[in-house]
Amino acid sequence: MENCVFCKIVAGEIPSMRVFEDEDCIAILDINPAANGHTLIIPKEHRKDLTEMDGDLTGRLMMVAKEIGMRQKERLGAAGFNIVQNNGAAAGQTVPHFHIHVIPRYEGGTQMVSWNPTSPDTDVLREFCEILK
Ligand code: AMP
Ligand code: ZN
Repeated sequence: MENCVFCKIVAGEIPSMRVFEDEDCIAILDINPAANGHTLIIPKEHRKDLTEMDGDLTGRLMMVAKEIGMRQKERLGAAGFNIVQNNGAAAGQTVPHFHIHVIPRYEGGTQMVSWNPTSPDTDVLREFCEILK
């Protein structure tokens, strides 16, 4: 897609640090990493977000994310890793081409993925359960 930064990276029109490539996707280092080794898994074909991804492709990219996470643990000494995947600007998506963040977590590192837990009444939870099921 024209004017898509990740399509340009896939096409080699913008430089990137490629750590993995197969027929479906590339994996590149994030230019503004949350931690050393923060990697993005990007499908070669343009999909704006998860709503445009089919199950097969999503599964294949998730297995690549797992492989990168294992490399972060084995080669970088990460104690764990987060998988983060934002859909829509309201969810913090800044590049509208699907991607999976694989963020290594090191012992003593800062808390990167967090939210403010709330304590709704059971009735409220039940209401949302009914709407969503
Ligand atoms: P998101 O907020 O989920 O859309 O994440 C987009 C990510 O892409 C951010 O973490 C950016 O730092 C990263 N990013 C943007 N442009 C580039 C680029 N040219 N090369 C590598 N990473 C990029
Ligand atoms: Zn694109």
